[in-house]
Amino acid sequence: MLNERGANLLAQIIKERYHNVRMDNLHYDEKEFYYEFKCDEDLGENDFPSLEEEMKKRDASLYIKLLRIGGVYYEGNANNEMIMRIVGKVFKSREEKEEYLREMEEAKLRDHRKIGEELDLFCFSDYVGLGLPLYTPRGTIIKDELQKEIERVCRKYGFVKVSCPSLASLSLFETSGHAQKFGEELFRVSSNQGHDFILKPVQCPHHTQIYASRIRSYKELPIRYMESDKQYRAELPGAVGGLSRVYAITVEDGHSFLRPDQIRDEIRNLCLLIKDFYSRMGLWDNHWVSLSVRDKEHPEKYIGSQEDWNLCEELLASVAEELGLDAKVCEGEAALYGPKLDFIFKDALGRDVQIPTVQLDFAMPKRFNLFYIDEHGEKQTPVMVHRAVLGSYERFIALLLEQFKGVLPLWLSPTQVNIIPVNNKYHEEYALKLKERLEDEDIRVNYDDSKENLSKKIRNSNMMKNPYMVIIGDKERDHQEVSYRLLGSEETHTLSLEEFISLIKEEVKKR
Ligand SMILES: [Zn+2]
Repeated sequence: MLNERGANLLAQIIKERYHNVRMDNLHYDEKEFYYEFKCDEDLGENDFPSLEEEMKKRDASLYIKLLRIGGVYYEGNANNEMIMRIVGKVFKSREEKEEYLREMEEAKLRDHRKIGEELDLFCFSDYVGLGLPLYTPRGTIIKDELQKEIERVCRKYGFVKVSCPSLASLSLFETSGHAQKFGEELFRVSSNQGHDFILKPVQCPHHTQIYASRIRSYKELPIRYMESDKQYRAELPGAVGGLSRVYAITVEDGHSFLRPDQIRDEIRNLCLLIKDFYSRMGLWDNHWVSLSVRDKEHPEKYIGSQEDWNLCEELLASVAEELGLDAKVCEGEAALYGPKLDFIFKDALGRDVQIPTVQLDFAMPKRFNLFYIDEHGEKQTPVMVHRAVLGSYERFIALLLEQFKGVLPLWLSPTQVNIIPVNNKYHEEYALKLKERLEDEDIRVNYDDSKENLSKKIRNSNMMKNPYMVIIGDKERDHQEVSYRLLGSEETHTLSLEEFISLIKEEVKKR
């Protein structure tokens, strides 16, 4: 295998070149190879060219590219020392290597961290801490608009909004089973007054308590709660990065409480909701569905009765079939408490990103003694369905930015109209009047009164991916008109102010 030869060659050169190489380890597969070690020197990416050159000198038949260098724990154990890992890849030919580098460049262009920085959407601060993203005003607009949209769609499918605190006592998560499940990943919050709280890693246990706050009749079900809020996970410090792995994620989460005879209809309802939302976002074509079922060899890994499991796996399969989801059966991928349907999307690098999910749960209602009163006046246990549609806002925004290379649809764009005066002095009065008029109509406007010349302002507007650029000169001022250009187009169109406002409002409404 080519990567095996690459790995051995790299190890050999490093041992010759650097001092006291120890704690080393080699790994290779079809995709890549890596070499882990500790030595007296500090290495970085700037050592790559000379290492690559030396490797080429020793074996001219290998086309090697060193890809990254970083710190990892020795033997993957967080209690051990940090060592260095160099990752590389060997290609069959120069053409293959060049093709790969071109693809990497393309992916870098799409990288959401880069786009997020350029478009001023989010940032990180050493004072605040790693893994804690801060949304800027422009990023907050995107997040708020997404929330409004997902809530609007979910309401059509019967969801109502609830709101819960971030803290809860440990006993809540012990009862739900999350304390055992998340273990070390729970953040504990204590005070000198004797408080001992958990920062919520999920919303389900809180939601069960809103359900339990009143006696529910069979006629009231399904009851569906949704909430977009922060959830907290104490990830390993080495694992956090970008917007994809963070300590605080904002999750769009929801739960349905049902009678057993409503399971089928509810799975259907939730699948249609997911399809509805992703089709509007222009992402639906880019997915596959996993029917995640038990590992049949190890029934002891799951809770609940075999009959419940059999029934629910069949129900999920038949609804998936009915809706033409073309679901792939993935054994052993079920949750601890029930089977699920997972919707998986491809990101810009072709990696699978699992976002929406529909999970049946028989266990949690029992753990919290939830009930409803049936038609005979008897107490019955409801079934719970956990579902995510948008999932984590951070991951969803990353996917959107990468998918559309930063060009968002008008309704999501932080700035919808960018007004540029040809001359700050002569055109300011009309430009400001226009800005005010558009803002009265809830259109998000930026007025560029910077000292830059016109062509620089036009370039900046395109760089910030503003969908509409309005240029104000003498003609526009004298006739009280609007001349605009669409992002990526050199063509100028002229409309009356009222026509322009209806154009924008129509496009926003259409989504
Ligand atoms: Zn849940």
